[in-house]
Amino acid sequence: METRELICINCPMGCNLTVQIEEGEVVSVTGNTCPRGKTYGISEVTHPVRMVTSIIPVENGEIPMVSCKTAVPVDKNKMFEIIEALAKVSVKAPVHIGDVVLADAAQTGVDVIATKEVAASSL
Ligand code: SF4
Repeated sequence: METRELICINCPMGCNLTVQIEEGEVVSVTGNTCPRGKTYGISEVTHPVRMVTSIIPVENGEIPMVSCKTAVPVDKNKMFEIIEALAKVSVKAPVHIGDVVLADAAQTGVDVIATKEVAASSL
C-alpha cells in the first residue's frame, strides 16, 4: 500500500489529504472536507491537471496586455511547454473574452482563451 500526502488546492481551506493507493488504484482519500477534495486527490495521483494562466501582449489595444487561460485544465507535465508557447504569442485588439489566442496549446488539444475584453486604442 502506497500513501500520498497532498494539500487540496481547490479552495483556501487547503485540506490535508491522505490518498492510499494499492496496485495503481486509489483505494481511499481521507482528510477532505468536501467531495471536491476526494476528486482532486484521485486526479492528482492518477492524472494530475492544472489550469494554465498567463498574460500576453495586445497590439493596438487600449491596454498593452490581456489575461488568458487554458479552456480546461491540462496535463500538469504540459504546463511549461504551454507557457513557453504563450511567450511567442501576441494578439491584435479588439480582444473579446473567449477569443482563442493559442489553438491546440502544446498539442494538448486544448485552446488558450482570452479572459478579458480589450478594446482597440482610440489613439
Ligand atoms: S477538500 Fe473541499 S474544503 Fe477542503 S480544500 Fe478541497 S475544496 Fe476546499
